[in-house]
Amino acid sequence: MEICTECGKKEVFLDGLCKKCYLNKNPLLISFKPVKILVCFFCRKYFSKGKWTRFRKLEDVIKDIVQKRLVFNDDARINSFKIRPVIPKYREGPNVKVNIETEITVFGTYPGKKRPVKEEYALSVKVIFILCPRCSRHKSGYFEGILQLRDVDDEVIDYAVDEARKQNQRGIFITKKLKVRNGFDIYLTKRGYIHELARELLNKFGGEIKASKKLFSRDKLRSRDIYRINVLFRQSKFRKGDILNIDGELFKVKNIDKNITIINIKTGKKTSIMPKHLKIRAAEEVKETIVSLVFPHVEILHPETFQSVKPENIKNRKFKVNQKVRVVVSDGKLWLVD
Ligand SMILES: [Zn+2]
Ligand SMILES: [Zn+2]
Repeated sequence: MEICTECGKKEVFLDGLCKKCYLNKNPLLISFKPVKILVCFFCRKYFSKGKWTRFRKLEDVIKDIVQKRLVFNDDARINSFKIRPVIPKYREGPNVKVNIETEITVFGTYPGKKRPVKEEYALSVKVIFILCPRCSRHKSGYFEGILQLRDVDDEVIDYAVDEARKQNQRGIFITKKLKVRNGFDIYLTKRGYIHELARELLNKFGGEIKASKKLFSRDKLRSRDIYRINVLFRQSKFRKGDILNIDGELFKVKNIDKNITIINIKTGKKTSIMPKHLKIRAAEEVKETIVSLVFPHVEILHPETFQSVKPENIKNRKFKVNQKVRVVVSDGKLWLVD
C-alpha cells in the first residue's frame, strides 16, 4: 500500500503524493494575477497593450484579457478552460469601480493519467470607468479646428451638428457651438473630419468651401508645427425653384448640390453649372398675379403696369380667368414660372 509522503493518506496520485497534495503543488493554473481593466465610459473603449480599443460587450473584454493573463502548468496537458465573468448590476460613470468575480474552470490531464482533472478558480477583475485621453481632451474644450457655416439655412446647421454627433465613437466631438454674425461656428476635435463634413454639406446643399490654417503651437517632441484649421462653408445663395437671369435668358433652378442644375424656361433645356461660374448676384423676383383673359388667347395682368398682356411662355397649359399665377418680369416681358 502506497502512502502520500505529504499527508499520509493511503493514496498516491503522482510523485508519491495523493491527488490533493499533488494538485496543491502542481495546479493546472500556475498564475493568475488580479486584473484591472480601464474602460472609457464615454466612447466605450478599453485600454490594453498601450492602446484604446472599442468593444461591444464588457463580458468579452474580461474574457479576452483574463485569457491572456492565464499561465498554465507545462507538465499537464490542458484539455479546455472556461472563463465566466459574473457581472453585477452597475452604473457607468467617472471613476466608478466594479468588481467582477470571474470563475475559471480548467480541465487538464497529468502525465500518465487518462482521466482529466477539473480545477475551479475565482478571479477578481476590477473594471474602472474613466475618460480615455481623447474623450478627456474633448471634455476640456480641446479642438483642432472650426467649421464655419455662413449664410446657411437652419437645416444646414441641424444637419452638420447631427452628423458630427454621430462621430463620437471615432473620437470626434463638438467642443463648442457659437452663433456668429451670418452663421454658426462648430468647434471640432478632429481636423480631418472638418474637411469631410464640409464636403458633405457641399454635396448636399450646394455652395462653396474655403479652408485655411492657423499656426497654433509647436510640438517640440516631434518638432513639428501644430495647426488649427478653419473650413468655411457658405451655402449657395440660390435655392431650388429660384429664377435666374443668365445673359438675358431665364432659367429655373431644378437642383443644387455641388453644381446647380437649371432649366431654360423658354426651351426646357437642362444645364448644369458650377456655382463659381455663375456671375449673378441674386435670383429674379417672382411676383404673383392673375390670368386676365383665356380666349382667344391667354393674357395675364402685368404686376407692374396692370395692363393685360400676353406672357412669353404658355406651353399649351389650360388657364382660367382670375387664376393665380407666378411670373417674372424681364425687360418688361412676362414669363410664367410654374
Ligand atoms: Zn496527500
Ligand atoms: Zn473615450
